Amino acid sequence: MATNLQKFDLETYEPDDVYAAANSQVSGLTKEQVKERQNQYGVNILRETKKEPVALVFIRNFTSLMAILLWVGGAVAMLSQSLALGIAIWFVNIVNGVFSFIQEYRASQATEALKKMLPSYARVIRDGQEEKVLAQDLVPGDVVLIEEGDKISADGRIVFATDFQVNQSALTGESNPVYKNNQADTDTNKTSLEYDNMVFAGTSVSSGSAKIVVSAIGMTTQFGQIASLTQSMADEKSPLQKELDHLTKQISAIAITVGIFFFLAATFIVKESVAQAFIFALGMIVAFIPEGLLPTVTLSLAMAVQRMAKENALVKKLSSVETLGATSVICSDKTGTLTQNAMTVNHLWQVSDSYNVSGLGYSNEGDIRKSDGKKVSLADNESLEHLVRFAHLCSNAQVLPPDGDHPNYTVLGDPTEACLNVLAEKAGLSLDKNHAWAPRLKELPFDSVRKRMTTVHSLETPVDKSNYISITKGAPKEIAELCRFYKDQNGIHGMNDQVFNQILAANDQFAQDGLRVLAIAYRTVQEESDQWTQEVLENQMIFLGLVAMSDPPRQGVREAVEKCHQASIRIIMVTGDYGLTALSIAKKIGIVRGDDARVISGLELESLSDTQLKEALKGEVVFARVAPEQKYRVVTALQELGEVVAVTGDGVNDAPALKKADIGVAMGITGTDVAKESADMILTDDNFTSIVHAIEEGRAVYQNIKKFLTYIFNSNTPEAVPSAFFLFSKGWVPLPLTVMQILAVDLGTDMIPALGLGVEPPAPGVMNHPPRKLTDRLLNKGLLMKAFLWYGIIESILAMGAFFLTYWINQGNLSHLIASGSLYREATTMTLGAIVFCQIGMVMNSRAGDHSIRQFKIFGNRLINIGLITELIIFLALVYLPIFHGLFNTAALGLWHWIYLILCPFVMIGLDELRKKLMK
Ligand code: ATP
Repeated sequence: MATNLQKFDLETYEPDDVYAAANSQVSGLTKEQVKERQNQYGVNILRETKKEPVALVFIRNFTSLMAILLWVGGAVAMLSQSLALGIAIWFVNIVNGVFSFIQEYRASQATEALKKMLPSYARVIRDGQEEKVLAQDLVPGDVVLIEEGDKISADGRIVFATDFQVNQSALTGESNPVYKNNQADTDTNKTSLEYDNMVFAGTSVSSGSAKIVVSAIGMTTQFGQIASLTQSMADEKSPLQKELDHLTKQISAIAITVGIFFFLAATFIVKESVAQAFIFALGMIVAFIPEGLLPTVTLSLAMAVQRMAKENALVKKLSSVETLGATSVICSDKTGTLTQNAMTVNHLWQVSDSYNVSGLGYSNEGDIRKSDGKKVSLADNESLEHLVRFAHLCSNAQVLPPDGDHPNYTVLGDPTEACLNVLAEKAGLSLDKNHAWAPRLKELPFDSVRKRMTTVHSLETPVDKSNYISITKGAPKEIAELCRFYKDQNGIHGMNDQVFNQILAANDQFAQDGLRVLAIAYRTVQEESDQWTQEVLENQMIFLGLVAMSDPPRQGVREAVEKCHQASIRIIMVTGDYGLTALSIAKKIGIVRGDDARVISGLELESLSDTQLKEALKGEVVFARVAPEQKYRVVTALQELGEVVAVTGDGVNDAPALKKADIGVAMGITGTDVAKESADMILTDDNFTSIVHAIEEGRAVYQNIKKFLTYIFNSNTPEAVPSAFFLFSKGWVPLPLTVMQILAVDLGTDMIPALGLGVEPPAPGVMNHPPRKLTDRLLNKGLLMKAFLWYGIIESILAMGAFFLTYWINQGNLSHLIASGSLYREATTMTLGAIVFCQIGMVMNSRAGDHSIRQFKIFGNRLINIGLITELIIFLALVYLPIFHGLFNTAALGLWHWIYLILCPFVMIGLDELRKKLMK
C-alpha cells in the first residue's frame, strides 16, 4: 500500500519548529490527517523476510532422505515385476508427504496465530487527546509519548525529554544506554544514527521519558533499511525436535541395516530370487522407518502452545514447552503475580496517632476513624490532612468508576498509587480541587532501586510559610532515614532515635499482617527549579506518616502453590517489597511452610558470597527489598545448583534475569516491552497460576510424545518376528506377514490412534512427581526395552500364535504348512488381525503410561476414538472386501478367529496391568 516512502528530516529544527516541519501540530495530527497519511505512506511494518514458498515446503516433504529411499524402493519394486507393491510404496510415500506437510503447515499456522496475539502499541497524541493505538498505525508526523521500558516503534525527533536514555544495541551493537535530548543539531554532516535528538524504531527506552514527532515509519526507518531482519518469533528447532531429527536418521540407518540383513538372509539362506529378496528387505525397511514422526511431534508441541495461550501463557518458542516441563524452581515476584495488585488502604499511622480506614476495593465509600471508633475530620487535624492530601498529590494513577463497558472499577496506572486517590475521597477531598490547589511542576519518577518517588508542587496557600513543596513517598525505612523532622498534631519536631524506632516498629507491625506500607514525607523548596535535584529534594524531609494497604492473594494461587509442592517444584519469592510483608504473604499462600524460613534482603544479598548464597538457596528462603538486577545473581546461583529456573519480571532491569533464566516469564499487563522481548513466555493475565498451568502442559506434552513413541515402536517387533520365522526356518514357515500387510498397519491402522496420543490432555498425575531432568533423553533404554522387548514380544507371541493356531485347527498338526491358497491367506490375516487388535490394547496401555488404565476415562480422547473406529473399518475392509484379498493376502474370518482377536487387547492390557502392579 505504501506509495511513497517519504521521511521527514527533522534533526536541524528547534524543538518548537519540529511540528510544523512534519506538517503536524502540538495537539498531534487530526483524524483526517492520519487517514490521509496512512493512505499515502502505508502501514508501519517491516516487510517480513521472505518466507519459504508453500510449494517449496510441500516439495521438501517428498525429497527427504526417507522419501527418496521409498521412491527408489518403489521404482525397483515396479521394475522387478511387483507393480502392486511398487505402487503401494509410492502411494505410502505420497500419503506420508501430504500428511507431514499438513502437520507442518498446521504447526506453523498455530505459531503464526500466536504472533498476532502479541501486538505492539504506542501512546500517541491525536486531536489533542492521548490514546493508545497499534504501533502499525503510526504515521509520519504523529506525536508519540515514550517512557522507560517502551519499545520504540518508529523513527522520530525528540521534542521534549526528561533524563532520557535509549538502548540502541539493536542498531549499533553498542549495549550502553545513550543519552538523548531535544536540542536542535545543525551539523548536517552526521549520519542519522549520530544525532542525539533522534530515536529509532527497534530500539528501546532505558530510562526517563520523551515526546517525539515521528519522522519515518516501516521500511524507511533506519531499522527497515538494514537488510535481513531477524523475526521476533524464532523458528529455530527445539532440542527435542533436533533430538528426533537425529533419531529418525539413526532409526533409518538401523532400518537399512536390518533390510540388508534380511536381503542377504533371504538370498543365501532361503535361496529366494534376488528380486523377491529385495522386496522382502524393502518391507522391513518400511516397517522400521518412523514416517511422520517429526511433524507429529512438532504439531503436538504447537498444539500445546495453543492450549497454553488459551490459559493466558503465550510461549514464544516451541522449545520452551519442553523446558517448562522440566522446571524445578520458580522465582516469582509478589505484587500482581501472587497477589491481586488491588490495593486498599486499611490503616494510617502518624507518630502521635493511628487510624483505621474502612471500605472495600476502589469504591470511595468508607471513612477514616480513630482507634476508638470516632470518625475524624481533616479540618481539625492538619498533619493528617497533609498526609492524605500529599499522598494523593504524589499519585499518577486514576480510578475510573464502573460504566456500561466496564462492570468494575478501572485503574489507570499503578494500583499502589490509585488507592491513595480513593483514600483522599474517603477523607472528603475533591481530587480536582486538590490538584488545582497544588499543581505539579516536576516529578522524579518511581524506580525500583530507589524505591520511592518525588513530586514538586507550587501551592495556592503556603505550607510551612513556603509556596513550593516537594513530596516523597516510598519504602518506610529508607524514607525515615532521609527525614530530619517529623510532623504530628502538635506541629513539627526534630527526628530522634526514639521516634525513628517507633516508625520502624509500626511498619513492622503492619508488615507482619501482610500489609504493604508506604511512608509519606515532604519538604519546602526554593522557587528555582535548578535546585530541584534528587539530592536536594529527597533529603532533610519532614516525616508525615505511614499508609498501610492490603493486597489480597490472587484467587487460585494457594492451590497452584500446593500443586507445585506436590510436583517438587520450589517457589522462591523475590520481591521489591519489605521482608516481613513478603514473609507474611508467603506464609499465607503456602510458599513458606516452616517456621525458620530465612528472609534475605537486597542489602544482605550483596554481602553474601556465592557459596553462602547457594547454601541459603537450599533451604526455605524469601528475598525481599531486592533490586531487579539482583535477581540475575539468584537465578545464576540456582542454575549452578543444577536447577531449571523460571523467573518472572516486568521492568527494564529485569531483562538480564529473564534472559539468563531457563524460562523468562514477563507480565503481559504490567510488563514493559523490554521485559516482554527478553522473556520466553508472556502471561497475559500476570497470574502465577498461569505459570503452573503452563508447566503442567509442558510436562503433559513430553509424556504424550513418549506415549506416542512407545506406541509406534512396539509394533516393529511383531512386524519383524514373522519374517525372522520365515527366514530362519528356511521357508518351512511360510511368510506369516506380508510386506503389504506391514504397510497396512504402519500407515493405515496405526496412524490416527498414534496422533491421538500426541494430543492427550494432561494426565491426572502429571504434577505428582518431581520434574524431569533436562538431560533425560526422550528415547531412553527403558522406553526402547519396554516397546521392543516387553510389548513387542507379547504382541509377537499373540501374532505368531494366531498364525500357527489357524494351521493347527484346520490341519490338526503343524508338520507341513501350505504356503499358498485360502488356508495360508486365512493364517496371514490372523497374524495381521492379532497385531491390529493388540495395538488397540496398546493405545490404552500407552495412554496410561506407568499408571493403571482404570484411572482415566477409556473413551475420553476423541481422536483416539476416531482412530479406533477407523482401525476397525480398515481391518474389516481388508478382511471382507474381496478386492483387497489379492493385494493384501487376506481372507474372510470365522467365529473362533474373531474370539481370538477380540481377546488380544485384553491380554495386552491385563499383562501390562500385572506388570505395573508388580513394579509398584
Ligand atoms: P514485586 O517485586 O514483588 O512486584 P513490589 O511491587 O513491592 O514487589 P517494587 O515495585 O520494586 O516491588 O516496589 C518496592 C517498594 O517500593 C515497595 O515495597 C514500596 O515501598 C515502594 N513503592 C512501590 N511502588 C511505589 C510507588 N508508586 N511510589 C512510591 N513508592 C513505591
